[in-house]
Amino acid sequence: MNGLTDIKESVRQREYIDRIAGLVRDRGLKYLVVTFGCQMNERDSEKIAGSLEEMGYTKAMEESEADILVYNTCTVRENAAVRLYGRLGVAKSYKEKNKDMLIAICGCLMQEEHAVEKIKKSYPFVDIIFGTHNIFRFPELLYKRLESSESIADIWECGDRIVEDLPVRRKYDFKMGINIMYGCDNFCTYCKVPYVRGRERSRDPKEIIREIESCVEDGVVEVMLLGQNVNSYGKGLDTKTDFPMLLEEVCRIDGLKRVRFMTSHPKDLSDSLIRVIAENPKIARHIHLPLQAGSDRILKAMNRHYTKEDYISLALRIKQEIEDVSLTSDIMVGFPHETESDVDETIDVIERVRYDGAFTFEYSPRKGTPAAEMEQLDKEYVQKNFDRVLKCVQKVSKEQAKRFEGRTMEVLTEGVDEKDPERFTGRLSQNSVVHYPMEGHKVGDMVRVRLDECMGFYYNGHIVD
Ligand code: SAH
Ligand code: SF4
Repeated sequence: MNGLTDIKESVRQREYIDRIAGLVRDRGLKYLVVTFGCQMNERDSEKIAGSLEEMGYTKAMEESEADILVYNTCTVRENAAVRLYGRLGVAKSYKEKNKDMLIAICGCLMQEEHAVEKIKKSYPFVDIIFGTHNIFRFPELLYKRLESSESIADIWECGDRIVEDLPVRRKYDFKMGINIMYGCDNFCTYCKVPYVRGRERSRDPKEIIREIESCVEDGVVEVMLLGQNVNSYGKGLDTKTDFPMLLEEVCRIDGLKRVRFMTSHPKDLSDSLIRVIAENPKIARHIHLPLQAGSDRILKAMNRHYTKEDYISLALRIKQEIEDVSLTSDIMVGFPHETESDVDETIDVIERVRYDGAFTFEYSPRKGTPAAEMEQLDKEYVQKNFDRVLKCVQKVSKEQAKRFEGRTMEVLTEGVDEKDPERFTGRLSQNSVVHYPMEGHKVGDMVRVRLDECMGFYYNGHIVD
């Protein structure tokens, strides 16, 4: 049964969707889901939006217009929580104007007891609180709230169920994210994810393929396979599989033009994965390979299970085996006990690997993680080191951005250029953005574009037949 969807539960939730549809019908009610955090949260929000649309709500353009407002929260860093509380303060005034408005909060932050207590105490106008493990129960919770007019908080300590087969409202028609696994077992010492998302569990490969196939029939041409550590996909499943095997199967889907994935933990990235990517032109030439830190001492304290040299040799192997690959990263500055010379090691990796882009974060202590118990660094000291790292990332990625200028490359057309209605915006397999005149093409088309000029972090080009 491992990895299989709990069908009974999705049938139950669909019944609640139908009941709410009976209540909502023809009332012109609107919803908005506001997402904080990562791609996993984006995907969860698409599921919540899908249920709401099936119930008969239509999407509002702004929070103030919504009859139901859902905040899908993040707890990876402190500032996501701060931003949520700011938004809630404003939402209160919308609710004063529209007495029937409902506010729901879900996501990772709601798995933290102190945050739920704070919301109950300081924001008592919030109607529904639920967590990551019972997100599929949203229709049932909403129905109960509509019936009783009492606030509801339903948080599960843990969860191993996989409930799919519920409606999804995708943000884009031509591309989709799909969870191939949930949770994380790595327990990096700074990170909250394993506590709020639970143990790692993979979805059955047949169900993943079936879901992608049905979306491709609907017009999807690009898929992003999502997991906290996709490289350990398949562990614990009854079917013998792993991430490279899954990728190969996904690539065989007719009509699918591009396959992306996120995120790869460096400790588990295998040679067979590198080979599969190199051999399959459908797989994007882009690997997001979070470094976190360059110093062996800090990497050990972070529980990352690789050394600086392991990381560099992996990155260089990837670059050698996969032509034109782009590498991006997550880098953290200010982990407890990190010194200037530790940060020099991080900068050394950035210069040697030459990232095409990197997210840089100041370390943020998260309650309940081992690193939060360690002695914390002085903020000014961290800020100085952070600035050095950021400057280095910007310099290297700016130099890297120019590397395809003058080349003709495949671009997936993503939409109309916001600044010019006569032009499209698309993306290279490497993930760089390209703008080009339309010339009779449509969104979702793969076109060959000459990259005439690098404009900093994007290219201007034209379609070449
Ligand atoms: N599973 C992914 C990361 C998920 S969290 C991985 O292992 O790569 C996304 C990024 O947030 C991490 O890569 C890390 O750089 C950052 N992050 C996580 N916890 C953090 C913390 N406590 N403070 C600052 N940044 C953090
Ligand atoms: Fe967090 Fe580490 Fe798991 Fe990524 S691998 S989600 S950083 S614990």
